Amino acid sequence: MINFELSENDRKVIEGLRAQALVARQYARYYDENEHEFPPDELEEAKNFPSLSELLEGRTDQDTPISVLGMLIVAAQTWGDYSVRMRRERGGLGNAALRAAGTPEQIEKWQGLILAMAITEPGCGSDPSMVQMSAVLDGDEWVLNGEKIFVTTGCRADGVIVWATLDKSAGRAGIKSFLVEKGTPGFVVTHKEKKLGIRADDTAAYVFKDCRIPRENLIGLQEEIPKHSSGGFRNVMKTFNMTRPGVAAIGIGMAEAALDFTRDHLRDAGIEIEYGGGIHGASAVVERFRRLEALCEAAQLTIWRAAWLSGEGQPNNMEASVCKAKAGAAVREITQGCIEILGPMGVSRDHLLEKWFRDVRITDIYEGTGEIQRMIIARGLFDYTRAELN
Ligand SMILES: Cc1cc2nc3c(=O)[nH]c(=O)nc-3n(C[C@H](O)[C@H](O)[C@H](O)COP(=O)(O)OP(=O)(O)OC[C@H]3O[C@@H](n4cnc5c(N)ncnc54)[C@H](O)[C@@H]3O)c2cc1C
Repeated sequence: MINFELSENDRKVIEGLRAQALVARQYARYYDENEHEFPPDELEEAKNFPSLSELLEGRTDQDTPISVLGMLIVAAQTWGDYSVRMRRERGGLGNAALRAAGTPEQIEKWQGLILAMAITEPGCGSDPSMVQMSAVLDGDEWVLNGEKIFVTTGCRADGVIVWATLDKSAGRAGIKSFLVEKGTPGFVVTHKEKKLGIRADDTAAYVFKDCRIPRENLIGLQEEIPKHSSGGFRNVMKTFNMTRPGVAAIGIGMAEAALDFTRDHLRDAGIEIEYGGGIHGASAVVERFRRLEALCEAAQLTIWRAAWLSGEGQPNNMEASVCKAKAGAAVREITQGCIEILGPMGVSRDHLLEKWFRDVRITDIYEGTGEIQRMIIARGLFDYTRAELN
């Protein structure tokens, strides 16, 4: 039976993280305006706060790939700021990819690194089966050649999980993921993007030219190309079942920040958000705000469901897409709605609301756009194959 009720301990974890997030938020504008500076790994004030590991001490479920509490933790951190954290204790998207598809030995060996994930190429985004980057086995090394763009944490990361094909004629079955550490000859960071939002997060472009990596850097160590067209690809796609709920939770953290900001300012203006009493007693602005809150809660429930299924070891492919699509659209509507409620204050750079509005846009882009999620959902609901609906 699904139960999303939080224990007293879980609540304390979230409260502890939100207190830290408020401190991190003080740095949010600075790093938004100074896009090419990295927020430090640890803020000066961090020593006054317990770390996430300390907050979670004694818990037995810390190794679960994703969990409801995990999603709340992500949202609590991004409630402060998307990129600025008190401490960077956990890695990037590549770490989730490693956990999803790596062998236990690989996870043990590389989990301490901050890992980016590079799938997108100049000619390949929404359809990862179009990956052109090649990997050729030469003796005991893989030789990588190709280009990757829009790699989140691409400059800062210690390494990257990169998708490449062993055989282009094998289609998606030939695609595998590899770990490449920074400093490997032939692996170059060529460019850092300037962006609309999430500007404190670096987004890089990579070139791999005759880049040699050890044979054991193939994630999952399955070298053979499966006969079934989607066998190996399905394995690498498992990553998304873990990362999509996390991306959705990132957006929810920012949307909650926007709602809290708006509620506070309405209160200062003498407008209290009250519940109950029916719609006829509510002013237009209160009714609008409550709708935005309800949207946020609905999106959150879809995230928790996808995470809960994963934690239970059950398939969550469709649910991961449902929560990503739902949250991606919801957070845009919520932040835009908050701006409309507050008027000029909503777009002033004296406040962070306009930044949250820009930052949430990513929720509906990376790890598959909203259109792609809706296509996956339709395939799941109506039992279409990839060939029938693409
Ligand atoms: C800030 C940022 C960070 C990113 N970080 C990463 C990262 O860390 N790693 C990584 O690998 N990638 C990353 N990306 C890339 C991101 O995942 C891609 O931009 C995204 O998957 C879309 O691919 P595309 O840009 O090639 O667009 P396209 O695939 O060219 O799509 C263009 C538009 O067409 C729509 N579309 C495409 N196919 C269909 C279809 N079949 N039906 C209906 N509509 C369709 C899409 O929804 C989109 O609106 C990042 C992007 C950004 C902006």
